[in-house]
Amino acid sequence: MTLRSLAQELTEPHLKSIGGRIGKVPSLLSELRDAVSGSSDTGAGGSTSKQRILVNATALELLKKIDETIKPGYSDRFGQSPPTLETCVELIGKNPHEADWELWFTEKLEWAKQEIETMLRPKKLRRLDGITCPSCQQKVFGTERETCLYADCWLDNDTLLPPSEWSVECKGCTATWKGQKEMGWLLVALAPDDC
Ligand SMILES: [Zn+2]
Repeated sequence: MTLRSLAQELTEPHLKSIGGRIGKVPSLLSELRDAVSGSSDTGAGGSTSKQRILVNATALELLKKIDETIKPGYSDRFGQSPPTLETCVELIGKNPHEADWELWFTEKLEWAKQEIETMLRPKKLRRLDGITCPSCQQKVFGTERETCLYADCWLDNDTLLPPSEWSVECKGCTATWKGQKEMGWLLVALAPDDC
């Protein structure tokens, strides 16, 4: 993405394709601020208040990290004390820069966008309850008896990938599996009621 479009996505409402439909979404920084203040349900649908507090803390920390990265860059580049984070990003997007600055700002805004999106829209994983991990032979782990196995098997919210493109991770022993050949045991385990 260009520096300009990155800056726009971070600071202005924009159009986005969501599950095959085009809709207007708020700017990423305003979504992040909403998550900090807890005024939005973004990303934690049906969450408990405990989860919500965790989201707020993570969002606040991320906002601080972005602020502390962009503002000093802005000061160095423009030789003046930085305005609000949003204004910094807008001005960075609208002004021409020398190649080094262009590269640095693009890198940092790309990073900010990725971090915000990963935090607000975590990848949906399928929890594989009741299946034994072939590596550690557990179905659950830890004192909370959490499920071991999770499959990364969704292309987006509505579309399931074919099993050959899944990857599976065990949170108990950190073993991972990927691709058709390694997935055989899982397909066998899922077969009776799921396939
Ligand atoms: Zn395991």
